[in-house]
Amino acid sequence: MTRVGIGYDSHRLVPGRPFILGGQRIAFEKGLEGHSDADAVAHAVTDAILGAAGAGDIGTYFPEADPKWKDFDSLVMLRMAREHINQLGYHPVQADITIICERPRLGVYKQAMAVAIAGELGVPPDAVGIKAKTNEGMGFVGRGEGVAVFAVATVEAR
Ligand code: MG
Repeated sequence: MTRVGIGYDSHRLVPGRPFILGGQRIAFEKGLEGHSDADAVAHAVTDAILGAAGAGDIGTYFPEADPKWKDFDSLVMLRMAREHINQLGYHPVQADITIICERPRLGVYKQAMAVAIAGELGVPPDAVGIKAKTNEGMGFVGRGEGVAVFAVATVEAR
C-alpha cells in the first residue's frame, strides 16, 4: 500500500541568522528566523512523511514551546519523524520538493540537499527531487521577506 503526504513550510528571512536549507548552509546576508534552525525544506518533508503515515504533524512532536528544540538541527527532526513512522509500519519511498526563494539562487545546492534529505529518509538520492524557483517578484517571497517550501512524499507499509 502506497500513501501520499503533503507538507508546506515558510520562514522569514532576517539578518543575523544562518541560512540553513535542506541541511546546507546557504551563503547569503540573511537567514531564516525560527525556533529550531528553521530549515523549511526539512520541516516540509517532515510534515509530508508524517501526513502520509497519518501520524500528525511536526508541531505534535517538536512543539515550539519546548526549549529542547531551540536552534535544533532539523535534519535530526526529520530522522526522528522517519524513525517514528518506521515504528508505525511505514517507510519513505520518495519525496519531491519545490523551494520558492527570490534570492539567492539555490541551484548549486540542490544536489547536496537531495543527498542530505535522502540520507534521513533512508532512500537513494535520486528518490528525492529538489526544484528551486523564484516567485517572479510577487508576494512575500517575491519581496524577499521569506522562503516557502512545498513537499510531497510517498510511504509504503512494511
Ligand atoms: Mg518550519
